[in-house]
Amino acid sequence: MRVAVPAVQGAFAEQIAYFKAAGADAFEVRNLRDWENARADALVLPGGESTVQRKLIRSTGLFEPLEEAIARGMPVFATCAGAILLARKIEGEEPFFGALDIEIRRNGYGRQNESFSTSCTVWGIDDFPATFIRAPTISAIGKDVEVVARCNGMPTGVKCARIIALAWHPELSRDLRLGRKFLEMAAG
Ligand code: GLN
Repeated sequence: MRVAVPAVQGAFAEQIAYFKAAGADAFEVRNLRDWENARADALVLPGGESTVQRKLIRSTGLFEPLEEAIARGMPVFATCAGAILLARKIEGEEPFFGALDIEIRRNGYGRQNESFSTSCTVWGIDDFPATFIRAPTISAIGKDVEVVARCNGMPTGVKCARIIALAWHPELSRDLRLGRKFLEMAAG
C-alpha cells in the first residue's frame, strides 16, 4: 500500500513514521514530480497550520492533482489541519478541497484548551489515545457523513465513503490499530 503524504508543513514526518509502522510504504510528496512518480494508493493529509498548508499546496502545484485524486475516490486519512482542508465549509474562510460534507471551526476549543490528551472510541476501536493540538471542532455534519469518533460527547472524527477525517492526532500515539484499519479499508 503506497501512502502519499504531502510534506509542505506540519506533522508529515510523524504520519510517515506512523503509517510505516502500520505496514505501509509511506513517503513524502513535496512537489508535482514526487506526486507524478508516486503511484499512490492512498493519501494522508497531516495536521499543522492550515493557512500555511493552503498556500504551499497551491504554490507547489499539488492542489489540482490532489483535488482530482480525492474526487476520483482515493482513500484519504486527514487529521486536524488536514480535516480543515477537506471540509466543505470552514467558518469564516473559503473552503480548500471542499470534498467532505462537514462544517468545521478552526481552533474551536479556544485558548484555554489549546492542547490536551484524552481517550476516544474511534471507528469501533476503544480506548484510543487522542491528542488535540489547537484542534478544530466539527460544527455540522452532512447526511452521508458518519460520526466515527466522539470525545467527551463531541464529534471529533467522521467518515464518508473512503475518507476519514479526525480533529486530533492519532499518529502521536504508538497505537497502530487505526492506521492498520485505514490501510485495510484502502486495500479493500
Ligand atoms: N489550528 C490549526 C489550523 O487551524 C490546526 C492545528 C493542527 O493541525 N494540529 O490550521
